[in-house]
Amino acid sequence: MKERTSILEESVKNILIYAMIFFIIMAIIGVFVVKNNYNDEIAQLEEKYKEQINLSSNKYIQEEIDNIKKYLDDGFSYLENSAKEFIDSNYNFAYNYYHSSNNKDEALDFLIKNTKYPIKYKIYNGIDPEYQYYTKYMELDNGKMLKINIDEQKYKETQRKVALENIKNLHNIHLSNFDAKEIDDDFTFLDNESWYCVYENNIYTCYDKNWWIKIEFSAKTSALEDSLIKAKSDRFLFFIKQSIYISIAMLFGYLLLYLYTLKKRKEVKEQIEIATNHFDDALNTQIANFNKLKSINTDFTYKEFRTLSYALLRFIRKIKAKDSHLKKQAYIDNITGLMNMVSVYESLKLYNKKQGKVLLFCFLNIASFRAYNSMYGRNFGDEILKLVGFRLYSIMKNIPVNDDEHTESNRYKNNDKYLFIQNNETFECLARISADEFLLVTEVNENEDFYKIAKSYQQKLISKNIKINSNDENISYEPFKINARIGYCVYPNDSDNILECIGNADLAIENDKATGDNVVFGYTKEIGEQNEADLKLQQDIRNGIVNKEFLLYYQPKVDCQSGKIIGAEALVRWQKGDKLIFPDQFIGLCEKSNLIITLGNEIIKMACDAQRRWIQQGLKLKLSINLSTKQLLNENIINTIEKNMQGIDPSLLEFEITESFSIENAASKGIIDKIKKLNVGLSMDDFGKGYSSLSYLNNKDLDFDVVKIDKCFIQNIDKNERNKKLVAFIVKMIKSLNKRSVAEGVENEEILTFLQSLGCDEYQGYYFSKPVPEKILLERVYNNAKN
Ligand code: C2E
Ligand code: CA
Ligand code: CA
Repeated sequence: MKERTSILEESVKNILIYAMIFFIIMAIIGVFVVKNNYNDEIAQLEEKYKEQINLSSNKYIQEEIDNIKKYLDDGFSYLENSAKEFIDSNYNFAYNYYHSSNNKDEALDFLIKNTKYPIKYKIYNGIDPEYQYYTKYMELDNGKMLKINIDEQKYKETQRKVALENIKNLHNIHLSNFDAKEIDDDFTFLDNESWYCVYENNIYTCYDKNWWIKIEFSAKTSALEDSLIKAKSDRFLFFIKQSIYISIAMLFGYLLLYLYTLKKRKEVKEQIEIATNHFDDALNTQIANFNKLKSINTDFTYKEFRTLSYALLRFIRKIKAKDSHLKKQAYIDNITGLMNMVSVYESLKLYNKKQGKVLLFCFLNIASFRAYNSMYGRNFGDEILKLVGFRLYSIMKNIPVNDDEHTESNRYKNNDKYLFIQNNETFECLARISADEFLLVTEVNENEDFYKIAKSYQQKLISKNIKINSNDENISYEPFKINARIGYCVYPNDSDNILECIGNADLAIENDKATGDNVVFGYTKEIGEQNEADLKLQQDIRNGIVNKEFLLYYQPKVDCQSGKIIGAEALVRWQKGDKLIFPDQFIGLCEKSNLIITLGNEIIKMACDAQRRWIQQGLKLKLSINLSTKQLLNENIINTIEKNMQGIDPSLLEFEITESFSIENAASKGIIDKIKKLNVGLSMDDFGKGYSSLSYLNNKDLDFDVVKIDKCFIQNIDKNERNKKLVAFIVKMIKSLNKRSVAEGVENEEILTFLQSLGCDEYQGYYFSKPVPEKILLERVYNNAKN
C-alpha cells in the first residue's frame, strides 16, 4: 500500500506550490507593469522623434534659425559700422594730410593714388546727389570737393562671402543639407520683409534681405533616428534590467520562504514528536479511564490536541458503544439484562478452582409460568421474569431491596448495572437460560450444606409477593406469589466438567422424582445415569420409528348399561425385538423431546388406517386417539388429522386431550376450536388428575363432548368412600353439562355396578379388556355382538 504523506509535509508542499504560483504571478505582473512603462517611454521617444523630424516644431531648428538670424543681423550692423569707421578714419587721414601739405595738388594726387579698396576718393564739383550711402566730403582749396566713400557693392560682396562661409561652418549638427546662397538679383521678397522662412517639402528656406542671401536646410533624420534607436535600446536594456531585478527579488522572496518553511517544518516535527508522545500518554490514560469508569477525563494539558482528543475519544466511544451493543446482544439476556448462556459459558471457561471452594450451580424454574403468559400476555410475563431476575440478583449480592422491585429491575436492566465477578474474588453468575429458567452460580465453601443454601435461595425467591407496575393508569395488577423449583449441582463434587454442571442441575430439576411438594433437588449419580439411559433410549426410539417398531393396541370402550362395545382407545406399544414395551417407558421421554410429534403423526396414521379397515368390514366403532400437549402445540396437527381422516365419518373419530393441556396453554382454545371444526369427537382425558378444579368442566370455551374420569379415582373406588362420593358428584356434573362421562380403570364388577348406579355412560378397563391387538379387538367385537 502506498504510504500516506503526513499532513505537515502535504501542507508545506502545498504552501510552497502556492507560494511559487504567487511569486510567479507577482513577477509576471511586475514585468508586465515595467513593460507597460517601457512601452509608454518608447511611445514618448517616438513621439519626440516625430516632433523633431517635423521641422516646424523642432526646437533645434528654431534655435538654429534664431542663431543664424542673429549672426546675420550682427554681421550686417558690423558691416555698416565698420564701413563708417573706415570712411571716418580715411577722411581724418586725408584731411590732415591735405591741409598739412604745402603742395596741395601733389598731396591730393598722393591720396588718390594710395587709396586702398574698398575706400574710393573722387573729386566732384559739388555733392554727388546719386549716392545716399554713408559718404564724407572734404572741401578742397580749389573749391572742389573730395568725396570719400567705400565701394559698397564690392565690399558687401566680400563680406557676404565671408558670412556665407561662416554660416555654413557654424550651423547646428541637427541640421543637414545645409546651404547658404546668394539670391538672384531679380528675386522679389515677400511683403518687403527683411527676414522670413518658408517650410516646404521637408526643406526649410530662410531669406535675408540685408545680406540678400537665402539659407536652405532640412532636419538631420539619421541623427534623430540614431538617437531614437539608442534611446530605445537604452530603455529596452533598462526594461530587461528591471524585469531581472523583479524576478530575482521574487526568487529571493521565494527562497526565503522556502528556507523559512524548512526551518519551521523541522520545528513543527519536533513539536509533533513531543505532542504525540504526550498525546499517546493522555489517550492511553483516557482509554484506561474510560474502560474503568466509563467516563472521559477532560484534563488535557495540550490545548491544541484537546479537540482532536475529544474527536478520537468520541470515535472510540462510538466503536465501544457499537461493540458493547453487539456484545450485549451476544452476551446479555434481552429480557432481564442478566447474563445469557453464552456469557455463562465464557465465564465458566475462565474459572480457576480455589482451595476449599466449590461452585454451586442452581437451576431455577418458575412454576406454571405459562399460565401468567396466557392470563396477562407475554409482556406481563416478561416483566415477571425481569423482576425475578433482579430479585435473584439481590439475593446473590445481598442487596437490600425496597418494595418497588419492578422499577429497580428496570433500572438495573436499562443501565447495565448488573455486575459479576468472574475470577478474582468470589465467582458468580446469574443468567436466564430459557423461558422461565434461571441459572445461579455461586462460589461457596466446600463443606457447606448445599441443599440448605439452594433451599434458602428458593425461599427468598418465593417469600415476597410479586408486584408488577402497570403502564396504564386504568389497570393495576394485584401482587401475587410465585412458586419455583431448584435443581442444583456442585462443581467439582458432582462433575469435574464445569460446563456439564449446568446440564446436571437442569437434570436434577427435571428428575422423575422431582414432583409433589418437594422444590429443591440435588443432582445425583443416579440422575446422571438415568439421563444417559434416556439419551440412549431416545436414540432407540428414533430408530424404532424409522423401523416401524411402534404399533397400536386397542382397549374397548363399553356402554355401561348395555355392556356393548361402542368404541376403542388406541394405545401405542413398542415392539422392540421380542419385547413389547409400554408407553410409560417412552411416551414421557418422547414428550420431553420433539419425538412425540413424529411418533404421534405415525399413531394418527395407523389409527385412521385401522378405522378405514373397520369401516370396510361394516363396523361402526368410535376410535379414540390420544394427543399429547406437544403434538397439539405443533401447528401442523390440524393438517395431519385432516389428511389422515379421509374416508372416515368424523363422528367415528375422537381425540383425547389431557385436562392439563386445556388449562395450561393459552393456545388451547384456538386449537380445540379447530379440531371441533373437523366434526370429530373431543374428549377431556385424565379428568381430576393433578388439577382438581371442577370449575374447568364448566368452561364454555373448552367444548368437549366427553369427559374421561381419571383411573386414579376409579381403580380403588370400591375401597375409598371419599372417592366414591367424588366420582358420583363428577358424573352428575358431567351429565348436567350434557356431556358424556367415561370411566377408565374399571377393574372389577363392583366398580362397574357402582358406575352403572351413577348413570355413567361408558367405561374402559381391565375388567372388560386390557388393550389388545387389532385382531383380538375385532374378535371381541364380534363375540360381543353375538351376546
Ligand atoms: P391413558 O390415555 O390414560 O390411557 C389409559 C391407560 O390406562 C393405558 O395405559 C391403559 O392400558 C391403562 N388401563 C386401562 N384400563 C386399566 C385398568 O383397568 N387398570 C389399570 N391399572 N390400567 C388400565 P397405557 O396403554 O400404558 O398408556 C399409558 C399412557 O400412555 C396413556 O394413558 C396415555 O397417556 C399414553 N399413551 C398411550 N398411547 C398413547 C398414544 O397413542 N398417544 C399418546 N399421545 N399417548 C399415549
Ligand atoms: Ca387416553
Ligand atoms: Ca386416561
